[in-house]
Amino acid sequence: MDALKKIIAVVMSLVLGIYGLFGLTSGISDDYEEGKYKNVILMIGDGMGFNHVKATEDLRNVDLVMNDMPVLLTSDIDSFLIPATDSAAGGTALSTGMRVWINSVGVYPFDPFSADDINVPLTLGELVKADGKATGVVTTDKTSGATPSDFSAHTYARGNEEEICADQLTNGFDLIWGGATESINKENTAANGWTYVDNEDDLMALEAGSRSFGQFNFDDLKYVKNEHNTPTIEEMTEKAIEILDANDEGFFLMVEGACIDKHSHSNDMDNVVLSTEEFDKAVAAALEFAEKDGETLVVVTADHATGGIQYNEETGEYYFTHDTHDIIDVPVYVSATDAGFTAGKAVANRDIPTQIARVMGYGKDQFPATSASLK
Ligand SMILES: [Zn+2]
Repeated sequence: MDALKKIIAVVMSLVLGIYGLFGLTSGISDDYEEGKYKNVILMIGDGMGFNHVKATEDLRNVDLVMNDMPVLLTSDIDSFLIPATDSAAGGTALSTGMRVWINSVGVYPFDPFSADDINVPLTLGELVKADGKATGVVTTDKTSGATPSDFSAHTYARGNEEEICADQLTNGFDLIWGGATESINKENTAANGWTYVDNEDDLMALEAGSRSFGQFNFDDLKYVKNEHNTPTIEEMTEKAIEILDANDEGFFLMVEGACIDKHSHSNDMDNVVLSTEEFDKAVAAALEFAEKDGETLVVVTADHATGGIQYNEETGEYYFTHDTHDIIDVPVYVSATDAGFTAGKAVANRDIPTQIARVMGYGKDQFPATSASLK
């Protein structure tokens, strides 16, 4: 059996290596300084394609700040071996620099249906934490949703909520905030050294440098109503930056606008554009901090687009063409021209976190760390 697993491992490495040759990497250049950026804020509009952005600007009559960022390029959405993905594999490519099976959260399993022989690549948050920086995860999904889990947990299936929550409780992150999930409560967070908050007032009262698990009314996060003392994604982003910035070494923060995807699945255009506009307000908050700070890079992208939004030139209408994930490239917006991302070019999704690691000063021997527990 061991011999068979070794053979599978070797074949997988070969396949990954050959596959890697076809990756689009021209969007990454050598034109950057290693370690130039002390802090990085990675913002993921779940399900947000180019037409989501365009529809929001047209239908809401707004100029989205992400569209004014100085560098725009495109990213593919490939998961392991196929040019399609879900939020689990899509987020894992963005958190670990590794393409994995659809459904996998921060792991590279040899068998997609088994907990045996899981290979655990390092996430960006874990990388910076081990170096003394602060790290946080903010989402409008539940905290155990696929994207926040990709950055803060490791398991072979996104539905393994108990495993995800156990990882999140013990991973030493500085903050994890989003919609409520059953496996997390005041007792088990306190037992693991977290301050637990479940409303906006308590969230805003948190002190810089504190460690907190935040779980809020999920319906409010989904519909941007804020009727139950629930923070918006913009407020969570501002507060998270304030808390993490207390660490002199720097920080990595992931912010996910999850509802763009959810409303795209249900073909609810009004709420799609509302969610995209809300997400953009959070981007504005991150950019405002980055400009003041001078050592912070902001990267905005998507794990995939959803709903196949099209525009009818004659009627001026936007419409959905399906209710699942698209197989098209997504936008990548970068807040600076000196971070090695080249405007107008294409990049492989897994190269986005790798380049983030480089500008934070982590070399090839540190990230991606693909074989931490390879047997
Ligand atoms: Zn989705």
